[in-house]
Amino acid sequence: MRVSKETVVGIEYTLKDDKGNVLDASTSHGPMEYLHGASNIIPGLEQGLEGLTAGDTKTVVVQPVDAYGEYSDTLIQRVPIDRFGANKVEVGMRFHAETNLGMRVLVIRHVDEQEAVLDGNHELAGKTLTFDVKVVSVRAAELTELAHGHPHQEGGCCGGGGCGSGESEGGCCSSEGEASAGGCCSTEGSSAGCCSAEEPAAQPKQGGCGNGGCGCSA
Ligand SMILES: [Zn+2]
Repeated sequence: MRVSKETVVGIEYTLKDDKGNVLDASTSHGPMEYLHGASNIIPGLEQGLEGLTAGDTKTVVVQPVDAYGEYSDTLIQRVPIDRFGANKVEVGMRFHAETNLGMRVLVIRHVDEQEAVLDGNHELAGKTLTFDVKVVSVRAAELTELAHGHPHQEGGCCGGGGCGSGESEGGCCSSEGEASAGGCCSTEGSSAGCCSAEEPAAQPKQGGCGNGGCGCSA
Protein backbone atom coordinates (compact mmCIF):
# COMPACT_ATOMS: atom_id res chain seq x y z
CA MET A 1 0.00 0.00 0.00
CA ARG A 2 1.22 3.47 -0.83
CA VAL A 3 1.14 6.51 1.41
CA SER A 4 -1.97 8.40 0.34
CA LYS A 5 -5.02 10.10 1.76
CA GLU A 6 -6.77 8.04 4.43
CA THR A 7 -3.83 5.83 5.22
CA VAL A 8 -2.15 5.61 8.61
CA VAL A 9 1.58 5.85 8.16
CA GLY A 10 4.29 4.85 10.60
CA ILE A 11 7.63 6.60 10.20
CA GLU A 12 11.02 6.69 11.81
CA TYR A 13 12.74 10.00 11.33
CA THR A 14 15.57 12.30 12.23
CA LEU A 15 14.89 16.01 12.04
CA LYS A 16 17.78 18.40 11.47
CA ASP A 17 18.05 22.11 10.97
CA ASP A 18 19.94 23.62 8.05
CA LYS A 19 23.20 23.41 9.97
CA GLY A 20 22.81 19.69 10.51
CA ASN A 21 21.94 19.92 14.19
CA VAL A 22 19.58 17.15 15.22
CA LEU A 23 16.40 18.69 16.61
CA ASP A 24 14.43 15.52 17.13
CA ALA A 25 14.60 11.85 16.28
CA SER A 26 12.18 8.99 16.59
CA THR A 27 14.88 6.95 18.27
CA SER A 28 14.08 8.89 21.41
CA HIS A 29 10.41 7.94 21.47
CA GLY A 30 9.80 5.29 18.84
CA PRO A 31 8.24 5.46 15.39
CA MET A 32 5.45 7.91 14.92
CA GLU A 33 2.11 7.15 13.31
CA TYR A 34 0.01 9.79 11.66
CA LEU A 35 -3.10 9.95 9.51
CA HIS A 36 -2.08 11.04 6.03
CA GLY A 37 -4.10 13.88 4.58
CA ALA A 38 -5.39 15.09 7.93
CA SER A 39 -2.83 17.76 8.72
CA ASN A 40 -1.37 15.67 11.52
CA ILE A 41 2.09 16.66 10.36
CA ILE A 42 3.50 19.70 8.62
CA PRO A 43 2.42 20.06 4.98
CA GLY A 44 5.90 19.85 3.49
CA LEU A 45 6.65 16.54 5.16
CA GLU A 46 3.26 15.11 4.30
CA GLN A 47 3.73 15.98 0.64
CA GLY A 48 7.20 14.49 0.66
CA LEU A 49 5.90 11.14 1.86
CA GLU A 50 3.06 10.86 -0.62
CA GLY A 51 3.33 7.69 -2.69
CA LEU A 52 6.02 5.94 -0.65
CA THR A 53 5.61 2.39 0.62
CA ALA A 54 6.79 0.57 3.74
CA GLY A 55 10.55 0.19 3.70
CA ASP A 56 11.18 3.31 1.64
CA THR A 57 13.58 5.93 2.91
CA LYS A 58 13.70 9.54 1.82
CA THR A 59 15.24 12.83 2.77
CA VAL A 60 12.61 15.56 2.74
CA VAL A 61 13.70 19.18 2.95
CA VAL A 62 10.92 21.50 4.07
CA GLN A 63 11.04 25.27 3.71
CA PRO A 64 9.58 27.40 6.52
CA VAL A 65 6.44 28.19 4.55
CA ASP A 66 5.59 24.48 4.50
CA ALA A 67 6.69 23.97 8.08
CA TYR A 68 6.20 26.49 10.88
CA GLY A 69 6.12 29.66 8.86
CA GLU A 70 8.51 32.55 8.69
CA TYR A 71 9.62 34.30 11.83
CA SER A 72 7.28 37.23 12.28
CA ASP A 73 7.95 40.46 14.16
CA THR A 74 4.22 40.93 14.46
CA LEU A 75 4.19 38.09 16.97
CA ILE A 76 6.41 40.09 19.30
CA GLN A 77 4.40 42.00 21.89
CA ARG A 78 5.41 44.43 24.59
CA VAL A 79 3.24 44.18 27.65
CA PRO A 80 3.31 46.54 30.65
CA ILE A 81 4.74 44.64 33.57
CA ASP A 82 1.81 45.54 35.83
CA ARG A 83 -0.44 43.42 33.61
CA PHE A 84 1.14 40.41 35.27
CA GLY A 85 0.03 41.50 38.71
CA ALA A 86 1.72 39.56 41.43
CA ASN A 87 2.79 36.76 39.10
CA LYS A 88 6.44 36.14 38.75
CA VAL A 89 7.76 37.11 35.33
CA GLU A 90 11.05 35.72 34.10
CA VAL A 91 12.81 35.38 30.78
CA GLY A 92 12.12 31.98 29.29
CA MET A 93 8.73 31.47 30.89
CA ARG A 94 6.05 30.15 28.56
CA PHE A 95 2.32 30.38 28.66
CA HIS A 96 -0.70 30.16 26.44
CA ALA A 97 -2.51 33.24 25.32
CA GLU A 98 -5.08 34.24 22.79
CA THR A 99 -3.59 36.34 20.01
CA ASN A 100 -4.88 37.59 16.71
CA LEU A 101 -3.56 34.35 15.23
CA GLY A 102 -5.43 32.23 17.69
CA MET A 103 -4.15 30.49 20.78
CA ARG A 104 -0.37 30.56 20.87
CA VAL A 105 2.42 29.64 23.17
CA LEU A 106 4.21 32.82 24.13
CA VAL A 107 7.73 32.96 25.46
CA ILE A 108 9.04 35.82 27.56
CA ARG A 109 12.17 37.12 25.84
CA HIS A 110 12.93 40.15 27.94
CA VAL A 111 11.79 41.68 31.21
CA ASP A 112 12.55 45.02 32.74
CA GLU A 113 10.85 47.29 35.24
CA GLN A 114 8.36 48.61 32.75
CA GLU A 115 7.53 45.79 30.44
CA ALA A 116 7.88 42.24 29.30
CA VAL A 117 8.56 41.26 25.69
CA LEU A 118 6.56 38.25 24.54
CA ASP A 119 7.35 36.19 21.47
CA GLY A 120 4.59 34.13 19.88
CA ASN A 121 6.72 32.66 17.10
CA HIS A 122 7.00 28.90 16.96
CA GLU A 123 10.43 27.78 18.04
CA LEU A 124 10.99 26.37 14.57
CA ALA A 125 9.59 29.37 12.71
CA GLY A 126 11.88 30.54 9.94
CA LYS A 127 13.80 27.27 9.87
CA THR A 128 14.35 25.02 6.91
CA LEU A 129 13.90 21.50 8.20
CA THR A 130 15.46 18.32 6.89
CA PHE A 131 13.78 15.02 7.68
CA ASP A 132 15.54 11.72 7.06
CA VAL A 133 12.55 9.45 7.04
CA LYS A 134 11.95 5.73 6.82
CA VAL A 135 8.42 4.53 6.24
CA VAL A 136 7.87 1.56 8.54
CA SER A 137 4.19 0.91 7.94
CA VAL A 138 1.26 1.96 5.79
CA ARG A 139 -2.29 0.77 6.40
CA ALA A 140 -5.81 1.87 5.57
CA ALA A 141 -7.27 4.09 8.26
CA GLU A 142 -10.21 2.87 10.33
CA LEU A 143 -13.45 4.80 10.11
CA THR A 144 -13.09 6.08 13.65
CA GLU A 145 -9.62 7.29 12.87
CA LEU A 146 -10.93 9.20 9.87
CA ALA A 147 -13.71 10.63 12.00
CA HIS A 148 -11.28 11.74 14.70
CA GLY A 149 -8.64 12.91 12.31
CA HIS A 150 -5.80 10.93 13.91
CA PRO A 151 -4.54 7.39 14.25
CA HIS A 152 -5.54 5.08 17.07
CA GLN A 153 -3.55 2.30 18.58
CA GLU A 154 -4.45 -0.50 20.85
CA GLY A 155 -6.80 0.91 23.34
CA GLY A 156 -8.37 3.26 20.89
CA CYS A 157 -8.27 6.96 20.95
CA CYS A 158 -5.31 8.02 22.95
CA GLY A 159 -4.85 4.51 24.10
CA GLY A 160 -1.60 3.50 25.47
CA GLY A 161 -0.42 6.73 26.79
CA GLY A 162 -1.86 9.25 24.52
CA CYS A 163 -1.42 12.81 24.87
CA GLY A 164 -2.57 14.48 27.83
CA SER A 165 -2.96 17.93 28.72
CA GLY A 166 0.64 18.79 29.06
CA GLU A 167 1.29 22.22 27.92
CA SER A 168 4.45 21.40 26.26
CA GLU A 169 5.98 23.68 23.86
CA GLY A 170 7.59 20.93 21.99
CA GLY A 171 4.22 19.79 21.05
CA CYS A 172 1.51 17.79 22.28
CA CYS A 173 2.16 14.81 24.05
CA SER A 174 5.76 15.43 24.23
CA SER A 175 7.44 16.32 27.39
CA GLU A 176 8.18 19.86 28.17
CA GLY A 177 10.66 21.45 25.92
CA GLU A 178 11.06 18.59 23.59
CA ALA A 179 10.88 19.58 20.00
CA SER A 180 9.35 16.73 18.32
CA ALA A 181 9.12 16.18 14.77
CA GLY A 182 6.39 14.56 13.21
CA GLY A 183 3.14 14.70 14.64
CA CYS A 184 0.80 16.48 16.73
CA CYS A 185 -1.72 17.59 19.09
CA SER A 186 -2.83 20.43 21.06
CA THR A 187 -3.23 23.80 19.70
CA GLU A 188 0.19 24.99 20.24
CA GLY A 189 3.06 24.40 18.06
CA SER A 190 5.50 21.72 17.88
CA SER A 191 7.77 20.73 15.32
CA ALA A 192 6.70 18.83 12.46
CA GLY A 193 3.25 18.14 12.52
CA CYS A 194 0.08 18.36 14.25
CA CYS A 195 -3.30 17.90 14.92
CA SER A 196 -4.34 21.34 15.08
CA ALA A 197 -5.78 22.87 12.05
CA GLU A 198 -3.93 26.02 12.51
CA GLU A 199 -0.51 24.95 13.37
CA PRO A 200 1.04 21.59 13.24
CA ALA A 201 2.56 20.35 16.37
CA ALA A 202 4.58 17.46 17.35
CA GLN A 203 4.22 13.82 18.12
CA PRO A 204 1.05 11.94 18.20
CA LYS A 205 2.63 9.55 20.61
CA GLN A 206 0.55 6.57 21.08
CA GLY A 207 -2.93 6.94 20.14
CA GLY A 208 -2.57 10.21 18.56
CA CYS A 209 -3.97 13.43 19.39
CA GLY A 210 -5.50 15.73 17.13
CA ASN A 211 -8.18 18.12 16.61
CA GLY A 212 -10.32 16.17 18.87
CA GLY A 213 -7.22 14.98 20.32
CA CYS A 214 -6.90 13.19 23.31
CA GLY A 215 -9.90 13.97 24.80
CA CYS A 216 -12.06 12.69 22.16
CA SER A 217 -14.44 10.55 23.95
CA ALA A 218 -15.04 7.68 21.63
ZN1 LIG B 1 -9.44 9.48 18.48
